Amino acid sequence: MVHASSIALGILCGPLVCVYVTFAACFCPSRLRQSGESDEKKRFERRQKMAPRPLVLHRQRALSIPLPDTECMNEGRKTLDQSQSRLMRLPLELREMIYRNVLGDNTLHMILKEQKLGHLRCKASNALECPLRYNGRTLGRESCWGPVDSANIWAPKSGINEPTDGNIIPFLRTCRQVYSEAINFLYSTNVFSFQDLDCLRHFSATVLPKRFNLVKKLDIEWYMTWPIYDPTAQQLLLNNPALYPPYDEATWEETWRIIANLPSLKFLRVSLLYYDGFQDPACEKKILAPLYKVTQAPVFEVRVSWDGREITGAPFRLIRPVPNDPTADDDSW
Ligand SMILES: [Zn+2]
Repeated sequence: MVHASSIALGILCGPLVCVYVTFAACFCPSRLRQSGESDEKKRFERRQKMAPRPLVLHRQRALSIPLPDTECMNEGRKTLDQSQSRLMRLPLELREMIYRNVLGDNTLHMILKEQKLGHLRCKASNALECPLRYNGRTLGRESCWGPVDSANIWAPKSGINEPTDGNIIPFLRTCRQVYSEAINFLYSTNVFSFQDLDCLRHFSATVLPKRFNLVKKLDIEWYMTWPIYDPTAQQLLLNNPALYPPYDEATWEETWRIIANLPSLKFLRVSLLYYDGFQDPACEKKILAPLYKVTQAPVFEVRVSWDGREITGAPFRLIRPVPNDPTADDDSW
């Protein structure tokens, strides 16, 4: 459908404007139309307003087991004896199996909520099986988590207070000992799935570094609707400032700095879609350059939606589209 509409518009506009601008305008969202910039600015400002606050370090967490000092007692934090609990009478190994079963080994979609992040268990067996669609502004998974607003902030029909945690937080809140024994499984055994680069950035800034550093598996899908690393296209198509985050080069490079510093990373699957592909191999080289910093993941796959040459010497396996794939579905990716 996308291809059909773009071809039709291309035929209509072809005699009047250059081919490049026509294709870009057909595939790109409203920012390339006359009112596009102000829409993008409003979207960016709303996202800034709704951004989660970074974590304050060196603060006693509500679910941490308190130290036996008077300060903690004065705050009303104390740990009750759990020896009568049937769960606590099980050997630690068995308790850990239970924790992992309850909290781990799933794909968790990370989404933006109003001034916080949310996570939802994927309803599919894995993120590749989970239907992903471009909604005109960004990638979304309405089948898994419902609609988002124009700023890509989760907007469930039932209201913003609908929980998104897949019953993970209530379990962790049952008891401080359960929390302290189980919390690491949340980070170390799940696949964290991102479709918004800001979401990954906020995730790294809102969990304790020792927990974030436990993350082993990441799944990232990103639709580059802006002509990133393409100054000619930016000059032709955009006003100043050319690129609003998270579509700018700085956010892209920061994303890969964060990932490159994840010490436990074992599995990284990245899917990149670009509205018009990279016509210039130099642009593709620039966008892939920050990925070369990620050298610690034994499994690192990068799927791209555009054709191009084979590359060698990369720490990732580059997977390009299969030419003339009769099973390809234009509406999904
Ligand atoms: Zn899903």
